[in-house]
Amino acid sequence: MHKPSPTIAEDIAAVLSLKPGGPHAFAGAARWGVAPAAAPAGRAGGEADRLTRVYVEVTTRCNLACRTCVRNGWDEPLGEMPLALFRSLIAQLHAGAQERAGAQPPTLVFAGYGEPTVHPELLEMLRLSKDLGARVEMVTNGTRVDAAMARGLIDLGVDRVWFSVDAVTPERYAAIRRGGQLAEVSDHIRGLYHERLRERRILPEIGLAFVAMRSNIDELPGLYRLAMAVHASDVLVTNLLPHTPDMLDEILYRRSIGMGRYSQSHEVPRVHLPRIDFDETTGPALLALLGRADNLDLAGADPAGQSDYCPFVQGGATAIRWDGRVSPCTPLLHAHPVFVASRWKHVKDSSFGSIAEQSLADIWASDPYAAFRRKVQAFDFAPCVFCGGCELDESNEEDCKGNTFPVCGGCLWAQGIVRCP
Ligand code: SF4
Ligand code: SF4
Ligand code: SF4
Repeated sequence: MHKPSPTIAEDIAAVLSLKPGGPHAFAGAARWGVAPAAAPAGRAGGEADRLTRVYVEVTTRCNLACRTCVRNGWDEPLGEMPLALFRSLIAQLHAGAQERAGAQPPTLVFAGYGEPTVHPELLEMLRLSKDLGARVEMVTNGTRVDAAMARGLIDLGVDRVWFSVDAVTPERYAAIRRGGQLAEVSDHIRGLYHERLRERRILPEIGLAFVAMRSNIDELPGLYRLAMAVHASDVLVTNLLPHTPDMLDEILYRRSIGMGRYSQSHEVPRVHLPRIDFDETTGPALLALLGRADNLDLAGADPAGQSDYCPFVQGGATAIRWDGRVSPCTPLLHAHPVFVASRWKHVKDSSFGSIAEQSLADIWASDPYAAFRRKVQAFDFAPCVFCGGCELDESNEEDCKGNTFPVCGGCLWAQGIVRCP
């Protein structure tokens, strides 16, 4: 049975027992990976050139209508991946693994902009993925992970199930995750955990994902209690990316969005903080400092986090849309409106081919896709997130450094502000 070490548990509990939103929250979160951490080594090459993680969007349909959902800003038709197309993907990955003398296939992550459990063939797709020998993860709203599905996930050996839970009080949950009920989802998470215990299995690990907003940030300690109760392996907190005007007041990074600009620069003094208690005595002073100093580190960790670092490209990931189109990341799977750094932007979707026409390996190795990955590794885009804005920044088609579509200088994933499981 997976059990967090007492040291980790005590540390996080100590952090979360303090006031939400204070500087102590940053310290604990950074340490355990739910907030900015030091940039990983190896900017070019390495993982970025090896396909290690494939996000598969099996459907864009969903049984909920969350306030936060990107689909609120869409006008494209919804759809789901045919089982035959998914089988073809598995065959391609199998052939690729054989060519590389039985190399481990990439991790398959059932996620995207839709709810995978509404796909009628989901369990068969999961079975095919496990038969391939791949690590398998799924991101779900949890509403349909009932006892039967929980047993299916356990029997198949699915490695991790991420539950998106943006509140742990029923009214808040219902207001954000419209159409869902906290009691039901909470029962499903606990049910999966208890069924796993009964079956004496350690998988699936349980992850909890939380979209932090002004109206729900005080729910984090309660979420942590739920994580402890079900022995969750991870709690991932992301910021909100507004897609509709009614969400603008909910963002929590109006100030921190600019921090990466001065990280490691000589324009402002670098403040080096030690590991230090966060409590009633230190809290106000540290909060004031964090609010003013743009260039600091805390016991060596940089609160500006992973600036100019694409977690998809640098992590060797790709994303496949329900119709087979291959994008470099989930944000580029679909065209959508987004609010970044005080202005609206229309993000165009980007694809380097379709698995309905070409193998994933060929698409991955194609010159345009390889060149794009090199460009993202170097991250030589215009700094649109930190700039005052211009007409070029109204889309991701070009920037003032002469880069052409798709440009990534306005991407909040690359600044550690928005995060995905
Ligand atoms: S569960 Fe996900 S896909 Fe469904 S409405 Fe909510 S955010 Fe959108
Ligand atoms: S394209 Fe250049 S001028 Fe325009 S917002 Fe980006 S960095 Fe600023
Ligand atoms: S848009 Fe963002 S997430 Fe996608 S490839 Fe560019 S930097 Fe990465």
